[in-house]
Amino acid sequence: MTTHATPDADVIVVGAGPGGAASAYHLAARGLDVLLLEKTHFPREKVCGDGLTPRAVAQLLKMGVDTEAPGWVRNRGLRVVADGAAIELDWPALEHFPDYGLTRTRLDFDQILADRAVAAGAKLLTGAKVTAPVFDLAGRVAGVTAVRDGEHVTFRAPLVIAADGVSGRLALALGLKRDEKRPMGVAVRQYYRSAAKHDDDYLESWLALRTAAEPDVLQPGYGWIFGLGDGRVNVGLGVLNSSEGYGKTDYRALLRDWLANTPEEWGLADEANADGPVRGAALPMGFNRTPHYSRGLMLVGDAGGMVNPFNGEGIAYAVEAGEAAAQVAAAALKAPNTPRREAILRSYAGRMDELWGSYYRMGGIFVQLIGHPTVMRLCTEHGLQRPALMRVVLKLLANLTDRPGRDTADRIVNGMRLVTPGLGRAKARSAGRAHAARADDRLASLTERRV
Ligand SMILES: Cc1cc2nc3c(=O)[nH]c(=O)nc-3n(C[C@H](O)[C@H](O)[C@H](O)COP(=O)(O)OP(=O)(O)OC[C@H]3O[C@@H](n4cnc5c(N)ncnc54)[C@H](O)[C@@H]3O)c2cc1C
Repeated sequence: MTTHATPDADVIVVGAGPGGAASAYHLAARGLDVLLLEKTHFPREKVCGDGLTPRAVAQLLKMGVDTEAPGWVRNRGLRVVADGAAIELDWPALEHFPDYGLTRTRLDFDQILADRAVAAGAKLLTGAKVTAPVFDLAGRVAGVTAVRDGEHVTFRAPLVIAADGVSGRLALALGLKRDEKRPMGVAVRQYYRSAAKHDDDYLESWLALRTAAEPDVLQPGYGWIFGLGDGRVNVGLGVLNSSEGYGKTDYRALLRDWLANTPEEWGLADEANADGPVRGAALPMGFNRTPHYSRGLMLVGDAGGMVNPFNGEGIAYAVEAGEAAAQVAAAALKAPNTPRREAILRSYAGRMDELWGSYYRMGGIFVQLIGHPTVMRLCTEHGLQRPALMRVVLKLLANLTDRPGRDTADRIVNGMRLVTPGLGRAKARSAGRAHAARADDRLASLTERRV
């Protein structure tokens, strides 16, 4: 075992999922020296629904991803299905977002994004598993330790971005725990061969999950069927922590029973058409880990609990947060002195709150409401019959409006945001102070490696 330090980077980004790759891309595009550390090797599978809304597509286009290249499958909107009724809702025509979504499996999606970061000048090290933050004498993160090819390595930089996903290991090392009152989900997915559904023009979402054994019982959660254009679909379901079934459900069995209830010609009722096992993971939602900046560490994506509670979408938010983190980091690293640098870095937490704080607060309320089967039933029974209402709902659920609003739907959704206070603002200030005090206490008893 050897320990040695490598040359400094301006910023170390831990994790080359969508959030880390976007952070690294936008940092490198601003001329910063970036080291992107990823524990796996590409290509690699990643549990996901593989669905991208126009919000995510907008970010891919900003990163110069060629979405016309082979392998990308376009969709024109969302089909919402409940109890035999269905409504097709096209993605809205908006100034700042394209009017199409995409699907692509994470098998190579993440690699495409990481390649964009490398093309912009970031240095990517795969097979580098980060084990802990490194602190300076002031208790500020000054790098990370990692294991690569069996060697223990220390990497140093004045700023570290934790984009290491839902485990939030780096954040935890600073005492940043998950807020259990905020929304959380569990989702499972499986690939199936389906000639009937693989080239569907719409992402399909099932709001009322029923099984053949208990057709009168509304099962917890919602399901999806996303065509991948290669003969396969990604099917899955998610259950929220506001639902009584959360943590008690056999998700694999629920998936199988729901699929057994789908039309036979889709091929999803026959497990022989499955392509690989059922795999699942947690969905950390609604900013369930804050503050998003603390002592030299910025949180991006799932590490900061950034999944949209309304629809379970996490990629767009991870990638957008990566861009916001890069903007703040670039400004901070130019600051003339340390206090100024820290003040700019702390502004990242406020920026996140400004972006999605009130929206996620509404999302938390939404998650509580739809956790009740009666509310869910009312929504599906009455909502699907009202296309105008559903178009507003789509804009709300997918966070797709123009600001200032161009139509009534925009104005309703934007107005709801305006009257909903953010999650942070006043609270963040006092929580930040309390957190800093707790962190200082902990620091006194810590024995981490110091550089
Ligand atoms: C079943 C399921 C379906 C979903 N469907 C969708 C969907 O259709 N659309 C959508 O937008 N979102 C979906 N999501 C959410 C989405 O997958 C996540 O929000 C998104 O992947 C978050 O990106 P990220 O970059 O923050 O984290 P991740 O994608 O988790 O990336 C983290 C990266 O960090 C690496 N890493 C972790 N620890 C270390 C370490 N110690 N050292 C070095 N590297 C490390 C990991 O290997 C990984 O590459 C789904 C989630 C689940 C579970």
